[in-house]
Amino acid sequence: MAGMTRPPRVGRTPLRLFVVIACLVVLAAAIGIERLGDGSAVAASTASTGSATSTGDIATAARSAEPPAPATAVAAESAIARTPAPSPGTAGAGPTTDGLVPGTVNATSINLSAEYVATVRLNFGTRSFLVSSTMTVTNTSGKAIDRLELNTIAARLGQMTLTVTRVDDVPVHATVSDQTIHLPLGGILEPGATTTVRISYRAILRSSTTGSNWLFTRANGVLEAHRWLPWISIPTPFDRPNHGDPFVTPVSPHVRITIVADRPIRWATTGEQVASSGMTKTFEARNVRDFAFVGAPDYRITSATVNGVIIRVLGRPGFPISTVLAAAKAALSREAKLLGAYPYRTYEIAQTAGGYGMESPGLTWIPAGAGSLAYLVAHETGHQWFYGIVGNDQARQPYADEAATDFVARYILGLRRASRCSTARLDLSIYRYSAACYYEDIYIQGGNFLDDTRRKMGSTAFWAGMRDYLATYRFKIGGTRALLNILDAHTPLNLIPRYRTRFPSMY
Ligand SMILES: [Zn+2]
Repeated sequence: MAGMTRPPRVGRTPLRLFVVIACLVVLAAAIGIERLGDGSAVAASTASTGSATSTGDIATAARSAEPPAPATAVAAESAIARTPAPSPGTAGAGPTTDGLVPGTVNATSINLSAEYVATVRLNFGTRSFLVSSTMTVTNTSGKAIDRLELNTIAARLGQMTLTVTRVDDVPVHATVSDQTIHLPLGGILEPGATTTVRISYRAILRSSTTGSNWLFTRANGVLEAHRWLPWISIPTPFDRPNHGDPFVTPVSPHVRITIVADRPIRWATTGEQVASSGMTKTFEARNVRDFAFVGAPDYRITSATVNGVIIRVLGRPGFPISTVLAAAKAALSREAKLLGAYPYRTYEIAQTAGGYGMESPGLTWIPAGAGSLAYLVAHETGHQWFYGIVGNDQARQPYADEAATDFVARYILGLRRASRCSTARLDLSIYRYSAACYYEDIYIQGGNFLDDTRRKMGSTAFWAGMRDYLATYRFKIGGTRALLNILDAHTPLNLIPRYRTRFPSMY
């Protein structure tokens, strides 16, 4: 997310001490998060592929897309006691085995290929939010697992109650801690095997934009839902002392979402609309690491096409949709020129109820009343590459997405400036930066560090390195060290001594 929708947080912000333990209590604790979006459908297909319950159909297509776990992902993966218990039940042949085999291995992974088909039934008036999701999960991690860990913000902001948790149609007992659903599979999912997981929950949207509420709320005439769909992820504490993004999500090859509303609403989503019937709308997205949406009954829409990408801006009366559209056109085309093509057919930018600018795949949130629109739009658009195309552990390595994104935004706009906080380490997690200096340290100092690196290497080599990083980790999980190492590999200079001073835990 971008930090600048409100006056700089550099001033005093009430420290939000997070009692990490107070999870079960109503969390009013809110933190602003911004995210980026990576677009949805690469080649929008009109027909839905696969039914919600088919277990074998994804096995082939998804396979190749699954990353062989970059080092960072492996490291980040929950360090669970893993017992290599390749049960003899599954033949080691093709990656097409269905179902589970008896036993336990006490292990999970985020290196899974999961397709999501979900329906959200919501009420704009009462804020009721009912989700029914079917995931088709193929174990592409190369090792046996026996549980899933799924992130959803509804667990922290929506008073979520799980109503269905079934694996291959057998009920399982899931537990929720913080924003993570721990879901036992009830057996072992061998490498290459596929299973079907159904999760339903009911929740209630927030009614304000304070704290983190703006991520899951219906306020100021807008309904907005971020990270609501239970998604394969690494358990990550939601509470943080700043507006950092506490999420880590791998890419899904295919997501199909149906929204059923109580009234006509215009939606901006990660996906492309593929079906519409009354107040029921269906959207699809491919190669996305999240599916966010925002809607209002009175959105006005303006659009343009840039390099084959359809940009749509949705805003309520009074929202400067033309200004935002111009900013989006400029940002998307200039950033694509530096970083490589934007991967989806549509890019939507929607006015939200408040909070921060926020990224999600193919969709950017811009809060009502935000200033510095050119900057804000450029920043969030940059996240389409750093977070969207290449993911990272946003909580534990915010440098990889926020510094890179903010650097790109300020580079194309000529907005480089000095930090208002003293020189800081750049290798810490979001939990280690204060509200006052998180933005100044990671975004400003972090971006300046990249810009200084560019000057030393020369622009040609530097941008080649950035594109190499984006291509190498495309739709996978990258990270700070991967980014810095690739830049170092693109110059005869030795950058490691420079890295050592600011990233002491990595070099
Ligand atoms: Zn950001």
